[in-house]
Amino acid sequence: MTDNRPGYDDTPLIPGSNYKVHDKNRPQPRVVTPGTESTQDKAGQAPSDAVVLFDGADLSSWTGRAGPAQWKVQDGYMEVVPGTGNIKTRRHFGDCQLHIEWAAPGVVKGESQGRGNSGVFLMGIYEVQVLDCFNNPTYADGLTAALYGQCPPLVNACRNPGLWQTYDLIWLGPRFEGEKLVRPARITVLHNGIVAHHDKELICPTTHRAVQPYQSHAEIGPLALQDHGDLVRYRNIWYRPMTDYDQAVN
Ligand code: MG
Repeated sequence: MTDNRPGYDDTPLIPGSNYKVHDKNRPQPRVVTPGTESTQDKAGQAPSDAVVLFDGADLSSWTGRAGPAQWKVQDGYMEVVPGTGNIKTRRHFGDCQLHIEWAAPGVVKGESQGRGNSGVFLMGIYEVQVLDCFNNPTYADGLTAALYGQCPPLVNACRNPGLWQTYDLIWLGPRFEGEKLVRPARITVLHNGIVAHHDKELICPTTHRAVQPYQSHAEIGPLALQDHGDLVRYRNIWYRPMTDYDQAVN
């Protein structure tokens, strides 16, 4: 029987690989239908294989400080209700691609860390800062998209307050063997499509005015959003687990 599959079987092995150059036996990546871009007026759609954490309808995938999340949901977004506390996903996950959209309050109030402050906490621990830094000076490692308290973003790519902004993250969580850290967390962040961090290693968990060492935890955790007392909005939150990548690095 003729083998009509495209590719070759008489080519050299690719160094460090089990496959030959143009190997016809090399498995095909799976097919994913891309999502659609968001606009200021309308949230986009997640890719076909994404796990949607918030689609604008309700907070059923989230919990609050004590029980259901108390933030407000309207017109396809959620908004912090100050004093109700951080919210976090019921679902726990690890290495992933994450998409999240947020908007600082259109009514500008406060300055420095007091203006449109919130935060995206990977695994509930590691904060990518959310802040309105449009004409709002603050300390560098607290800027929008900073790895809070340890690494400023490469650029300040803030839009005017009130406009929707995007974070696209690639997150590789830390690995522990017992209490010992064997692989620090790494993160890539695009803010409004612009690189803010590229494969940056997190030195430690993010904290305010302190440095604290890594503490052993599971390979999966919830995503948390911060109530810092400001009326920050979120919409269109989804992630894609990076199982294949996990297998490649482990
Ligand atoms: Mg914050």
